[in-house]
Amino acid sequence: MLTVNAIAAPSATGALVRTKIERRDVGPRDVLIEIRYAGICHSDIHTVRGEWGEVPYPLTVGHEIVGQVTEVGAEVTKHAVGDRVGVGCMVNSCRECDNCKAGLENYCLKGNTGTYAAKDRDGTITQGGYSTHVVVDEDFVLRVPESIPVEAAAPLLCAGITLYSPLARWNAGPGKKVAIVGMGGLGHMGVKIAAAMGAEVTVLSQTLSKQEDGLRFGAQHYYATSDPATFEQLANSFDLIVNTVSAELDINAYLSLLRLDGTLVNVGAPPQPLPIQVFTLFGNRRSFAGSSIGGIAETQEMLDFCAERGIAPEIEVIDADAVNDAYERVLKSDVRYRFVIDVDSLR
Ligand code: NAP
Ligand code: ZN
Ligand code: ZN
Repeated sequence: MLTVNAIAAPSATGALVRTKIERRDVGPRDVLIEIRYAGICHSDIHTVRGEWGEVPYPLTVGHEIVGQVTEVGAEVTKHAVGDRVGVGCMVNSCRECDNCKAGLENYCLKGNTGTYAAKDRDGTITQGGYSTHVVVDEDFVLRVPESIPVEAAAPLLCAGITLYSPLARWNAGPGKKVAIVGMGGLGHMGVKIAAAMGAEVTVLSQTLSKQEDGLRFGAQHYYATSDPATFEQLANSFDLIVNTVSAELDINAYLSLLRLDGTLVNVGAPPQPLPIQVFTLFGNRRSFAGSSIGGIAETQEMLDFCAERGIAPEIEVIDADAVNDAYERVLKSDVRYRFVIDVDSLR
């Protein structure tokens, strides 16, 4: 066992505090990673606050992890000491079900093993990336290209793949009108990736306060959803809408913006249900879909895509002690556009 520094939530309401957690010994197929940076995903906040259900406390969250390999098990072939690597939202899966065999470990029929708050193969509860080291099976460790700035790479492991996967699946590309709803951590990556794929990108944000940024990230159009005229103006116009909003919203108003055979993919995960008017789906033969992160192979594809296209998240680097303030800012939609913890501040 390796005892390492971390920050953990003591309860659903308590502030995150410095602590120590244990990592398992490096097994034959494991990789020991010295974490350099860990992104703060809104899912971390939903989780520690118990918004998605009960979780075991104390809990260390964080599933946007980038660091360096410092030790490998005897049978490891994919990674070597010194490699720059990443870990996202899952650290294992059954590897036997149809979905795992298809490379869709994120949709493992037995449930993938989450990077935190999940039961690990040794019966312990997984603990996430707000810590100095992590031990992960080599198959769930990604290669992070050196051309991506190391501090900016971490958010790709969740925010990046969560947008890349539906944009690729629903063919965002030349001739397609794509709207991204909410320009936070996920949304701003959606704008950059959809634009790089060649789509005509529109941002639907609560206000116009981030318009200049949105256009710089590659959007052609930017609208405020607080203005009812937006919904009249854009009715029946998009092939694809990706909703990244972390809170309840009037999903029918957004569905009405889809043109014939258009799809709204929901990746935002508010704790409350989103009631759908079926008549809104009837019009224009619209589809409502969901998407959850991406498989390991697709995550590697996304990292390589971002490296080739020079795409990186916009980040604000913080020390570990600033995490609680960062959470408050994320909750106020005051994030530009992903907080990343400098894990050196935990050593
Ligand atoms: P985030 O950085 O907080 O971004 C969410 C954005 O939604 C905000 O920046 C804001 O954008 C908009 N928003 C927030 N509250 C709103 C409200 N009440 N009404 C309208 N718009 C609102 O969060 P994130 O890290 O990108 O995560 C977004 C959601 O995706 C979370 O629920 C998270 O759990 C979920 N998630 C899902 C997956 C998956 O695999 N499906 C993966 C990761 C995260 P504007 O300021 O531009 O309006
Ligand atoms: Zn996440
Ligand atoms: Zn499986």
